[in-house]
Amino acid sequence: MIWEERWHPLREEWIIIAAHRQNRPWNGETIAHEGVTLPVYLPDCYLCPGNLRVSGQRNEHYASTFVFDNDHPCVGFEAPAEVAQPPGIYQNRPAAGIARVVCYSPNHSLALAELEISEIIKLLRVWREQYVELGSHPQINHVLIFENKGEAVGVSNPHPHCQIYATNFVFKTIETEARVSERHLAETGRVLFQDILAAERADGRRIIFENESAVAFLPYFARYAYECYVAPKQTHASIVTLDERELRDFAEALKQLTVRYDNLWQMPFPYVMALHQAPTDSGDYRGFHFHIEFHPPLRKPNLLKYLAGPEIGGGNFLSDTSPEEKAAELRAKPTSHYKQEKPAGTQ
Ligand SMILES: [Zn+2]
Ligand SMILES: [Zn+2]
Repeated sequence: MIWEERWHPLREEWIIIAAHRQNRPWNGETIAHEGVTLPVYLPDCYLCPGNLRVSGQRNEHYASTFVFDNDHPCVGFEAPAEVAQPPGIYQNRPAAGIARVVCYSPNHSLALAELEISEIIKLLRVWREQYVELGSHPQINHVLIFENKGEAVGVSNPHPHCQIYATNFVFKTIETEARVSERHLAETGRVLFQDILAAERADGRRIIFENESAVAFLPYFARYAYECYVAPKQTHASIVTLDERELRDFAEALKQLTVRYDNLWQMPFPYVMALHQAPTDSGDYRGFHFHIEFHPPLRKPNLLKYLAGPEIGGGNFLSDTSPEEKAAELRAKPTSHYKQEKPAGTQ
């Protein structure tokens, strides 16, 4: 059992690992999620093909992916351009930007883990196009592509989709990663994320999957029990410069990880997923290494990691689990999706 503090080199913060407090490891019992077989099409889903959305717009009868402007944007160029001056040290500015939604598939019942590799590659291309298009806008300094998946993170519609917030500011975590990566490059001549990859491969216990050019791992410094990263082995500041083989390998690594997530407890695994790509503010990001982070909120099938005193009150995470142990659980899972392994309702 591990009882120590680990340094998170990308966020520059300590994580308290207090795995000695954990109850016994999960015994493998699964909870019944049969009976929730989803339809491939739902007439009142705002993401299904051909359906009417709240804005009055009708979705295309799309066959693979579908991108549209968010009907309830948190940032937009329609936001008030004139904002009232606040007093004293306070500052404000217009909430300018573009918010979009990307449907992964016309099939309402599928999750990322259940898409074919070829479909995931298509999705990666859409993410790439969106990053390029939105990032080229002079007022857009950052493109955050993320997926909130599952009711545990507040999403009730299972239709596979992600969101894009293209903003006039750089999101805090990316800003930190970019800053520490730049400093590391200046001080050592090396890419920080490459040093992380080297450490992970030297240890090996937390590598979940690896092929020729991509890797999925549960980092030494994970804040959440099942937190994992997927990254190309070569440094790319964004998804834009991955070549065809790297895209395919990356898609395979994404699939390998998400299938294991779903297989862990034989249930759709909730998470917040985010693409970490270089800001689009025309800075120098040679030290930035594109990756996707998964932050699953569950520690056990029905047990959420609650953010409380240490995390919310103090700003540092307390983890009750051992990253090595959690990685071993994921590594041990089968690589074909449980829904495709057996008919629903059977053991
Ligand atoms: Zn749907
Ligand atoms: Zn990151």
